[in-house]
Amino acid sequence: MQPRSRLSQGVQDLLRCPVCRARMKQTEQQFECANSACASRFPVVDGIPVLINEQSSLFSIDDFVSHRRTFFANVGEAPRKRIVPSLKLTIGKNIKGKSNFDRMADVLFAQSTSPRVLVLGGSVLGQGMEPLAGNGAVELVETDVAFGARTMLICDAHDIPFENGTFDGVVAQAVLEHVVDPYRCCEEIHRVLRDRGVVYAETPFMQQVHSRYDFTRFTRLGHRRLFRRFEEIDSGAVGGPGMALAWSYKYFLMSGTESRPLKRLIRAFAGLTSFYLKYFDYYLIDKPSALDAASGYYFMGRKAERVLSDRELMKLYKGSR
Ligand SMILES: [Zn+2]
Repeated sequence: MQPRSRLSQGVQDLLRCPVCRARMKQTEQQFECANSACASRFPVVDGIPVLINEQSSLFSIDDFVSHRRTFFANVGEAPRKRIVPSLKLTIGKNIKGKSNFDRMADVLFAQSTSPRVLVLGGSVLGQGMEPLAGNGAVELVETDVAFGARTMLICDAHDIPFENGTFDGVVAQAVLEHVVDPYRCCEEIHRVLRDRGVVYAETPFMQQVHSRYDFTRFTRLGHRRLFRRFEEIDSGAVGGPGMALAWSYKYFLMSGTESRPLKRLIRAFAGLTSFYLKYFDYYLIDKPSALDAASGYYFMGRKAERVLSDRELMKLYKGSR
């Protein structure tokens, strides 16, 4: 017997074919595109629909049917044996996440009593997301290209399998550096949002490669331009220069070796000797010079019809140059 779907029936009715966006016929085991010219079929694996457009995704449907390792290791997969134990001194700190999600919740509830929010990269709970995840009135639709503790739907942000205007909000926290075409993904986010719907994104700037699926970095203005079809609610640095320095220091130390145990040892040493750098960010994070050197940026905005022009974009520079 198939486990029950974690998507509400209301949300399931809004699912569309990721290849041609037509409606789909649904059985317990699969979804089938109702457009006879397309007729794509998508399986349901352990109660989770796998709605991947194989023509444009890095992932195949079979990756999920066969439970291959995709973006993250599968839930329940045994962790690698460790020779050197890991030390829990982190160099990263999301300074703005919690207050930004508080603000996003306020904006969402001003528009709807039960906002529906799509989470991209949502197999694990994002940093600071409790104001949305802990509120029973928010309907979170948590999606990813990996089976995780919170995954409700396997989907790729390049082809979001939902009807236009389905969501009041979309969250993409530390996602857009991991997609091959962030501009296309933003078009998709715009499409599935209702009028005046809210997007919240966090994307790194000064951070080294941290996954094999890692393709792009954005400056603050580059990030703003990515969301040029949105009207800004707020934007800024989410991690500052202290964190960026700690990342650089750690990757500098690790760059001389390919040995996994040695890398683990260096990682622990780097944590021990640079964990405190992130605390400088509490002081630095909103300073113009620090805005040029941030570890990552956030953008919160409303879906708009008007497109921000590149000349208008230039007026939004807030660094120290
Ligand atoms: Zn189709």
